[in-house]
Amino acid sequence: MRDLSLTQKFAEIYPELVAVAGVTMSDEPLSQRTTLHVGGQPIATVTCTSIEAIVAVVTTCDANHIPVLIVGGGSNLVIADGTVDCVAVLVACDEITVNLATGLVQAEAGAVWDEVVELAVASGLGGIECLSGIPGSAGAVPVQNVGAYGAEVSDVLTRVRLLHRDTGIDEWVPASELELAYRYSNLKFTSRAVVLAIEMQLNPDGLSAPLRYGELARSLGATAGGQRQPATQVREAVLALRRAKGMVYDVTDHDTWSAGSFFTNPVVDAERAEQIAARFPDQQVPRYPVAGTEEVKMSAAWLIQHAGFDKGFTLPPGRAGLSTKHTLALTNRGEATTADIVDLARHVRAGVAAEFGVLLEPEPVWIGIEI
Ligand SMILES: Cc1cc2nc3c(=O)[nH]c(=O)nc-3n(C[C@H](O)[C@H](O)[C@H](O)COP(=O)(O)OP(=O)(O)OC[C@H]3O[C@@H](n4cnc5c(N)ncnc54)[C@H](O)[C@@H]3O)c2cc1C
Repeated sequence: MRDLSLTQKFAEIYPELVAVAGVTMSDEPLSQRTTLHVGGQPIATVTCTSIEAIVAVVTTCDANHIPVLIVGGGSNLVIADGTVDCVAVLVACDEITVNLATGLVQAEAGAVWDEVVELAVASGLGGIECLSGIPGSAGAVPVQNVGAYGAEVSDVLTRVRLLHRDTGIDEWVPASELELAYRYSNLKFTSRAVVLAIEMQLNPDGLSAPLRYGELARSLGATAGGQRQPATQVREAVLALRRAKGMVYDVTDHDTWSAGSFFTNPVVDAERAEQIAARFPDQQVPRYPVAGTEEVKMSAAWLIQHAGFDKGFTLPPGRAGLSTKHTLALTNRGEATTADIVDLARHVRAGVAAEFGVLLEPEPVWIGIEI
């Protein structure tokens, strides 16, 4: 049931918000804004096409104690069905500035991330080509320090323009203050700040970052580890690999109606990793020592598959299932609700825990519901 006092408070500030330039209102459900195509009805959906509009809307809602959900591309969100007691603020400011001489690229938070990558690569700048094809907005990229194919945005991120929600201060902050780590920053799960823009230092020589990911390096015919190749070629290779795994969002392909990798790769103690590997003597069980610790990172996809969940696995009535191309993507087969996705997530997680004693942690941000 909707908290009516919030609806009332929103009605009181509504005239102030619609008067702001760059603000439009709608009452669309969040299922229309997520790549999982699930999510309930917020109090309102407020689209902001400028940084000033975001600042005005968020600070006004905060001052009136109305919960706000910042939404970029909706590609890392699992939002409850039914009513959702928040105002969804859609970040839609999308200017991108490229400095060819210095290699500095700035993007407003609502710029489509892959368009930032495409423009940078086409402009002869290297450094983010491995992050091609990741859905969503530039502003969300620091939130979980997006990464793929051996690269993370922390490799190139210099600073972010933040709206601090406790003080209302809008300032550029060095990337080092975000505690960027594997699929983590201190912005994730905290909602403490809104990213208004990002800045990255790229390579003006047009070459890629060193190729660190075996599958990608092999597909490009790299002969030695850490080679750099033309960023344009690396981007094409990454997009081809991602498409084959259903990891490029495509509204016509239900294998991509997902939140990407649903679970992070678990870090376990070395003994547990050894026990698991010993059960599969004929296989190269993926294991990556975590530097400076006794711990080992394992592959969530491998654990899911070897716990008995094949690609395409569904729970009755089949509305939600694992992607037919990738075991780590939980997908909406067309008619799923959030409850269907969550049931599947719980089932897979319990199966892996029962088989291997490893509890997988979800990667997306959960709103109004828990695993
Ligand atoms: C097919 C597919 C493939 C994917 N592959 C990858 C991958 O390879 N690597 C990877 O790391 N991720 C991947 N993802 C996950 C997702 O694309 C990224 O996490 C992406 O950065 C999310 O961006 P978004 O704009 O869609 O964020 P949203 O889903 O809109 O939001 C995610 C979180 O960030 C917050 N947020 C969004 N914008 C802002 C902002 N401007 N300021 C503050 N907070 C904000 C939201 O409130 C929410 O908490 C994939 C997802 C899909 C569907």
